[in-house]
Amino acid sequence: MNYFPAFFDLRGLRVLVVGAGEVALRKVSLLERTGALITLVAPDVVAELAARAETGSLTLQQREFQTADLDGARLVIVATSRRAVNRWIASLCESRAIPVNVVDDKEASRFIVPAIIDRDPVLVAISTGGSAPVLARRLRERLEALIPQGFGELALWLRELRSRAGEHLRDTAARRRFYETLVDGPAARRFIAGDRRGAQRIAQQLLATTAVSAPPVGEVTLVGAGPGDPELLTLKGLRALQDADVILHDRLVSAGVLDLARRDATRICVGKAGGGESTPQAAIHALLIEHARAGKRVVRLKGGDPFVFGRGGEELQALAAAGIPYTVIPGITAAAGVAAYAGIPLTHRDHAHSVSFVTGHADKNGVEPDWRSLAGPGQTAVFYMGLQRLPVIVERLVQHGAPTNRPAAVVAEGSLESQRVVSATLGSLVAACATAGLASPALLIVGDVVDLHSTLAWFNPGSGDEDLSRSA
Ligand code: SAH
Repeated sequence: MNYFPAFFDLRGLRVLVVGAGEVALRKVSLLERTGALITLVAPDVVAELAARAETGSLTLQQREFQTADLDGARLVIVATSRRAVNRWIASLCESRAIPVNVVDDKEASRFIVPAIIDRDPVLVAISTGGSAPVLARRLRERLEALIPQGFGELALWLRELRSRAGEHLRDTAARRRFYETLVDGPAARRFIAGDRRGAQRIAQQLLATTAVSAPPVGEVTLVGAGPGDPELLTLKGLRALQDADVILHDRLVSAGVLDLARRDATRICVGKAGGGESTPQAAIHALLIEHARAGKRVVRLKGGDPFVFGRGGEELQALAAAGIPYTVIPGITAAAGVAAYAGIPLTHRDHAHSVSFVTGHADKNGVEPDWRSLAGPGQTAVFYMGLQRLPVIVERLVQHGAPTNRPAAVVAEGSLESQRVVSATLGSLVAACATAGLASPALLIVGDVVDLHSTLAWFNPGSGDEDLSRSA
């Protein structure tokens, strides 16, 4: 980050503006609203600024800039039409440690001015760090449309309610609940729609009921994060992440998804890193129950879908036994997401009429999958967690009758920028993967549909892909 975002309280402070054309006028108009003491220095002054000087809202020095103008200035904006003069003034400011902005000259500026969406006192500031002002403007247009005009008024109303909420609701958690219900519910909607009285009435009732109602029991939302690309998260999943007080996540959940969560939520990683030790399942159950009992909104975030090799079922059983309320938000399971991003349709009228999701891990009781059936024709088999045991899986399939020329692929880090696809046959896959040196997570897909990858692949971010199906 090249710039530190901040809002500067300028009330009563001296601000110097050098230059008095149209650009300076725009800056002055904003500055005036902050209560800054504005001094304007310029030999030529547009009429509007001269008029404002007459009303006394700013001090005008109609002459060339002098070094002494910087005395006592806490902020300087330079907007003359002469670049060399601008830069000279900027360097004077630098030597006196006064923050300076030179309009349209990022290099000479110590601070830059963002594009804003103005719903005073709510202010949204956008910056691209000076790299693409057009982008900032587009973003502003979108946000302008998104944030209702009445938003500033709403903020003022909430501020008015503060003292009464403070009297009625001593407990900070209760106050937070009160504001959230107000902002998320009909009160804010009515207020913005112009029905101030209706909004006031609802707020009144809420104040009374929130004070006496017991704090809510917490709850757990089991959320599927999808295979990696954060945009594959569902809208419901996103909302749950933004409402969460506590998030327990697996290591498999991508950083991009975690970035979407509420900033001040407590995050606890309970996953295992590449075969390393994970938090024991019983400890995860205990954490979920403990936080929910403390009244928190807990999100249990899992890679892919929670009910596909995610132990989501076990966690819900523990919650049910403890009497904790829960909901489940499904996610795109790796098989679906990864196949899509690799251009491998899991079923196809010409090639596969069924698809099996199989764990590549040996069962803890030594129970094997039904290899004979998985080795049969006209179907697709997707193996999760199969990279380490790849040679064993391939051997079993061939032993049970799968031909060595059956197409098979390993997709690693599917749907992420780092995605890699090694497409081969059962006979050549193990060697091809060893050469490629794939990292987990990786998924093994076996079946004639894999052949379609060579024509249907569309997502090739880094393209370390290998297509060996022809060379087998
Ligand atoms: N609940 C998850 C699966 C957890 S098991 C789901 O529904 O997707 C973990 C396995 O999922 C990994 O070993 C790997 O086989 C697979 N997997 C998860 N994300 C993946 C990805 N982005 N690319 C390839 N395989 C992935």
